[in-house]
Amino acid sequence: IPEEFRKARPILKKINDAGFKAYFVGGSVRDSILNKPLHDIDIATSAYPTEIKQIFPKTVDTGIKHGTVMVIDDGTGYEITTFRTEGAYQDFRRPDNVTFVRSLEEDLKRRDFTINALALSEDGNIIDLFGGIKDLNNHMIRAVGDPEERFHEDALRMMRAVRFASQLDFSIEKNTIDAITKNSHLLKKIAVERILVEFEKMMLGKDPSIGISEMLESHMTEFIPESKVITEALNDLSDKKFLNIENTVQLWSIILFTTKQKASEIHSFLKKWKTSNELIQNVQDTVFFLEGMRSNRINNQLLFNTGEKNLENALHISGLFEMDVKNYKKDYEKLTIKSNKELAITGNDLILNDLAEPGPQMGVILKRLKEQVIDGMVANEKNKLLEIAKTIKEL
Ligand code: ATP
Ligand code: MG
Repeated sequence: IPEEFRKARPILKKINDAGFKAYFVGGSVRDSILNKPLHDIDIATSAYPTEIKQIFPKTVDTGIKHGTVMVIDDGTGYEITTFRTEGAYQDFRRPDNVTFVRSLEEDLKRRDFTINALALSEDGNIIDLFGGIKDLNNHMIRAVGDPEERFHEDALRMMRAVRFASQLDFSIEKNTIDAITKNSHLLKKIAVERILVEFEKMMLGKDPSIGISEMLESHMTEFIPESKVITEALNDLSDKKFLNIENTVQLWSIILFTTKQKASEIHSFLKKWKTSNELIQNVQDTVFFLEGMRSNRINNQLLFNTGEKNLENALHISGLFEMDVKNYKKDYEKLTIKSNKELAITGNDLILNDLAEPGPQMGVILKRLKEQVIDGMVANEKNKLLEIAKTIKEL
């Protein structure tokens, strides 16, 4: 039994002693059987949220509408969710109203895959109503109940199937993948934000080549945002086993670089996927550097503008593409300055020396000084830079 469960056992006991049922459920049970590290522990219970709040002195209402209360124990927060069934499914999306029930079986029935529908009791018993253990042993992703019905209830589950296949290096059971192929078009109904989460987890998984080929063969790629580019990219990547993508900047950079998207297209592409502006900037910088590598025009300015993190991202990715990789990391380390704030002169210095007034002109002068320092034309010293600023002003 993993340490995290051992630590949380008294919580289950307290709920049991109050006359209710409580179990560990979901991903943590699955991962503990697979001997993988656990991240979050989910607890499901027959007690209603109000009842949980009576049992524990310290709680936070994190999602009380959906039946979730967080119990704080010894500095750790545990999400405790009342057994529930989901209301009517409309339009192939998960409903936002739930019904609390007292039966564990009802709760497990609404879960997506057999390997995610296991429960573990306080005394160490595994409750396996749908053959989840067998599927774990056989490395199978299998829908709970009738796969078509389940994907009609919530089409996102199709993305989750390929995501788990890729993360765990499992196969998707035949009826389940057949139902995905037949219903992949339902993905059109799903909010981009939810697809994004599962797609990124899939691509960052242990063996994305499994998820990639399942997505292509089942035509799922045709029903997600920017489907043409994604389909082309995944086709390019499908023969590469163990992509070893480390983060989402690398992921989107690979997709956009392999399909040769122009810098101007990257922004609108990622906006369709509703990624953050920070990610968009990082991807633009990373792809721009990769393009510089491909056309052999890396210089100090580009190294500076790319920055250390995105330089590392670009170099990590470049291994996937046949490119001549020089020791850019060493060139980067040799830069005299690595960020704007290392420049030995500020706008204030320019003002004090009557070389500029606040406004755009000041920015232009600072930018030119910075470029000269980066190119090694002038030392990064305030007096030297003031002299140069004078000559720029006289121009
Ligand atoms: P991870 O390790 O990525 O957190 P997880 O299995 O815990 O994987 P979550 O998204 O955290 O996945 O969901 C927790 C549990 O809730 C799942 O194990 C599953 O039982 C259930 N679940 C989550 N999303 C769905 C869904 N769309 N349909 C049915 N059950 C779901
Ligand atoms: Mg989880």
